Amino acid sequence: KETDERRGKGTWEKICRARENLYKAGVLQGFSITVTRENAEIVTSDEFIDDLIERNVSFGWYFIYIPIGKNPKVDFMPTPEQRNHLREKVWKWRSTKPIFIGDFWNDGPWVGGCIAGGRKYFHINALGDIEPCVFIHFATDNIFDLWKKGKGLRDAIVSPFFMDIRKHQLTNDNWLTPCTIIDKPEFLREVVKTHNAHPTHKGAETIIQGEIADYLDKYARELDKITRPEFEKMAKGEYDSSVVQLSKVMKNHREKNKKEYEIQNRGVEE
Ligand code: SF4
Repeated sequence: KETDERRGKGTWEKICRARENLYKAGVLQGFSITVTRENAEIVTSDEFIDDLIERNVSFGWYFIYIPIGKNPKVDFMPTPEQRNHLREKVWKWRSTKPIFIGDFWNDGPWVGGCIAGGRKYFHINALGDIEPCVFIHFATDNIFDLWKKGKGLRDAIVSPFFMDIRKHQLTNDNWLTPCTIIDKPEFLREVVKTHNAHPTHKGAETIIQGEIADYLDKYARELDKITRPEFEKMAKGEYDSSVVQLSKVMKNHREKNKKEYEIQNRGVEE
């Protein structure tokens, strides 16, 4: 029902048929789910994941709805409680269910926080604008313009806009709230303003002003309050297991992020 409401009538049936055909042909198949306030309860239920496993799904990603694009609606965003519940379920399923799952926002501790701004990735849109993340629709550089000036991608990666984003990532002390867009909204506003980054999509400014900005400030505060105690437990080793020591993974990321930034910053200054 939820899939058909979002993607059009009959979509769920078509997906299920395609899954069967893929399985018969021996092709691995996965899922990509956008978690909203409305479907959060269903897509985090054991029945839901068991049904996907029953349909021979081997891997998948959970995204959460981000209020960007045409007509963004903060009411679609899962609440901070729902987002936290998603983490609890996915992390539990990882050691109890035969399926590989990525949880984009809640996996911050595993990957050392936000990867945008050239820390691990960035995005170039069809017009050549070099955006810090596919969801951050602001840019100061364009690949075609750089090319004309005899410059390249490296110049965008070490631009003041991107360097500032990476510098700020170092100050994040709760990777369960990693996102530069929805978890650190005040910073996105500041960095866009400081570097005079221009919107790359119509309506991109709605995320940094007015009602949406106000909502995100409140959302970010609530999420931090809920998740910080868990993140502190992770840092203390309370989530370590005989298979993997999350506290060490986090410590390594912390040191590596700092070192990489320092090296890149030295390169800029020289
Ligand atoms: S800005 Fe948000 S969506 Fe983009 S990489 Fe960072 S955490 Fe992920």
